[in-house]
Amino acid sequence: MHTLKSYVCGHWHEATEGFRPLYDPSTEEEIARASSSGIAFGDVLDHARETGGPALRAMTFAQRGALLRDLSKALRAHRDELLDLSRRNNGTTEADGSFDLDGASGTLHYYASFGRRLGDVRTLPDDDGQQLGRDEHFWTRHVWVPRQGAAVGVNAFNFPAWGFVEKAACALLAGVPVIAKPATATAWVAQRCAEIMVASGVLPEGTFQMIVGGTGDLLERLGPQDVFAFTGSADTARDLLAGESLRKHNTRTNVEADSLNAAVLAPDADGDTLARFVRDVSHEMMQKAGQKCTAIRRVFVPVARIDEVQEALVARLDKKAAVGNPADAAVTVGPLATASQLSDAERGVRELESAGAQKVYGEGCRVDGLGSTEDRGYFFPPTLLRHEEPHTAGAVHGREVFGPVATLMPYDGTATEAAQLVALGGGTLVTSVYTDTRDWLEELVVAGGAHTGRIYIGSAESAGFGSGAALPASLHGGPGRAGGGEEVGGAIGLERYLQRLALQGDRPLVDGVLVHSTGEDDA
Ligand code: NAP
Repeated sequence: MHTLKSYVCGHWHEATEGFRPLYDPSTEEEIARASSSGIAFGDVLDHARETGGPALRAMTFAQRGALLRDLSKALRAHRDELLDLSRRNNGTTEADGSFDLDGASGTLHYYASFGRRLGDVRTLPDDDGQQLGRDEHFWTRHVWVPRQGAAVGVNAFNFPAWGFVEKAACALLAGVPVIAKPATATAWVAQRCAEIMVASGVLPEGTFQMIVGGTGDLLERLGPQDVFAFTGSADTARDLLAGESLRKHNTRTNVEADSLNAAVLAPDADGDTLARFVRDVSHEMMQKAGQKCTAIRRVFVPVARIDEVQEALVARLDKKAAVGNPADAAVTVGPLATASQLSDAERGVRELESAGAQKVYGEGCRVDGLGSTEDRGYFFPPTLLRHEEPHTAGAVHGREVFGPVATLMPYDGTATEAAQLVALGGGTLVTSVYTDTRDWLEELVVAGGAHTGRIYIGSAESAGFGSGAALPASLHGGPGRAGGGEEVGGAIGLERYLQRLALQGDRPLVDGVLVHSTGEDDA
């Protein structure tokens, strides 16, 4: 039995008790175990704050960017091995595993380049400054400096690599040491990534630690300079944020949670745009077996076209979906990650049906998978439902079924009604809109934009590849139910880990702080 280790206080810690098992979701074989027992969480925080933080703050943004570049290379060098492990620990096909792993190395690479562009500076200007008095002897300017705590990231099971790496990339570039806690079910992939990153030798002591298993009293110990970034379900987020100490110290938090993402087909969409819509919706249902926070859950189609679109979606799912063990090369949809995810997805479909949705494709419950033993494996087929009354569809807008499940619904074709229906999700990470009509799109953006973190536009000429990818240059996060957080998105992703402050005084001194920081006065 493989025992996962935590990397804390400069060494690999192996627990001796309190283990939770990890399974291969295609075979249900127990493959590893994880526990954080025996870790002194106060020491972990001290190590980050007292050793890692000063080391990072002594470096410039460009130097920290170079560190990220080396980490990206190290992960890429182990890509094949990690893909294989992801298949066993996370049930991913090669394409699904690469979505996570290449997403991780790609995000590091993106922030490495971002750091290079920021240059050899240790503070960042937020604006150009303004005169406060009668002349420039009383001047103000806003600047960003690294926070002096630890960046604690708690992550969801579905992106074991990208999930902790996208947080770590932003924190490290900002100058804040990282303590990553992956979800236990898929922690082997995360822990192996951590091993590779640590073995690369580029991380200064104390700048990166990983805890596998529970967080003990770590979260109660967070203070005013720390950052707590959570990704997972809205229920867990609510429980954790209710914690006394996070509120007492006003610890900065970021939450990325559930989302009932919507796809909207505009009335004009035809030809290539319609084909793109059908391709993207079915792809979003099947990729990672629908276990993506960005997956499309609600599909809105003009009432006059809903039968035609349903037929096209069903035909495509039927053609493309091969559910089973990803060890079989023919498989395109792997299993759900755990037994509890499987039963939750089954329960979720029943709740959607109770709210009036009807299955039009797929069983909506466990099936046997290709290349797998009968009655073994957490396989769940793509399942499309349809609800005729979207305004009263209740759970369809509120219950996230974390699997390959979406519900098709009619609307009147106006951007106004589409926006109202998107809003019923209570705040989403992404809304995808398929149209070639600028006025319709503008109306949708104005009426519905506040209810979502990102609008992906599919059109005849668009070269985009679907709404599911959280690309590092664009904001990831959404209002309300989606957690209200903001991650990646270039400079936006750094802001969580930086403190903005106003400098006030004589202009040469105020500007001189930044000039000195950039080294411009050495030129
Ligand atoms: P989860 O059950 O909420 O768990 C998320 C993380 O919280 C895990 O690491 C879990 O650790 C940890 N956790 C749970 N209870 C805790 C506690 N009392 N103290 C400290 N840590 C605790 O979510 P999940 O099942 O892993 O992930 C699926 C959910 O995440 C879905 O709802 C999905 O929409 C959401 N998600 C959102 C995003 C986004 O960016 N918005 C991205 C991915 C996933 P253990 O595993 O050790 O229990």
